[in-house]
Amino acid sequence: MDTQDRKIFVAGHRGLVGSAVVRCLQRRGYRNLLIRNRNEVDLTDYRAVATLFRAEKPDVVIDAAAKVGGILANDSYPADFIRDNLFIQSHLIECAYRAGVRKFVFLGSSCIYPKAAPQPMREEYLLTGPLEPTNEWYAVAKIAGIKMCQAYRRQYGFDAISLMPTNLYGPGDYFDLEKSHVLPALLRKFHEAKQRGDAAVTVWGSGTPRREFLYVDDLAEAVVFLLENYSEEGIVNVGTGEDVSIRELADMIRAEVGFAGELRFDATKPDGTPRKLLDVSRLSALGWRAGTSLAEGIGKTYRWYLQHAAELRM
Ligand code: GDP
Repeated sequence: MDTQDRKIFVAGHRGLVGSAVVRCLQRRGYRNLLIRNRNEVDLTDYRAVATLFRAEKPDVVIDAAAKVGGILANDSYPADFIRDNLFIQSHLIECAYRAGVRKFVFLGSSCIYPKAAPQPMREEYLLTGPLEPTNEWYAVAKIAGIKMCQAYRRQYGFDAISLMPTNLYGPGDYFDLEKSHVLPALLRKFHEAKQRGDAAVTVWGSGTPRREFLYVDDLAEAVVFLLENYSEEGIVNVGTGEDVSIRELADMIRAEVGFAGELRFDATKPDGTPRKLLDVSRLSALGWRAGTSLAEGIGKTYRWYLQHAAELRM
């Protein structure tokens, strides 16, 4: 069968990652995409997933479905984060294996690495120390997903690969002020502050934590690249290899939005882990690198936000 004719189930196609994966597959000529809305197939319901796989028999599964959120959401809803993610990924992996799926792509997260891991973080640092407490529930679920993929590969020869993206942002992101991640939250805060003519914008924490940000369409390119070129047990980091402080990020967003006021830091909000930067040498050695700079990606995301602000779930 022609590669582009394989039936690819993109789980979580309405999310930030899934929608970018769908765009990327379409750009690359994949013609046979399988997508289902949440009201058609609830991925936390094993029977619903099993029925879908029996009926549709996809060749490839890209698991971009997850319950995700920023630092406060993770800290406030630990049960939701560990349960929903364990359910969704286990159902997808098990049903894909049973239905004879030929390739499974699992998406993890850079928060699977220990809080005190040396920076940049290499793939082999997995399970070498305690996790960051604010998102350990999500991280433990994702680690279980990685291990499940590795176990199914070892025991059944199931071709499951796992990618660990760094902090993502881009079109289709979630712009809630309380529950979203820092980049979309700050874009919205600066935008609304500018509209209201506020004197200052409040940034959570101290501004000193450092984070790496990957434009989601770049991640989607990496997903398709590894889908086509990688078939091993080892996890693969996906990032840019560069980080910025939250203060630097806030300054970039302030400049993009054109907000003239000042920054204030709210020390009552958590900083989270001090630094999160991936070592991307494994992916570089395979021949892939990110193409979008942070400034360019912030600009594209802000333009998308301006076009969609009215209809966003906020
Ligand atoms: P993390 O990478 O898991 O810590 O998740 P976040 O993207 O939520 O937060 C990254 C960093 O940005 C943390 O140090 C936050 O305290 C900081 N931050 C600053 N302002 C904001 C904001 O408005 N929303 C969020 N979510 N984080 C913020």
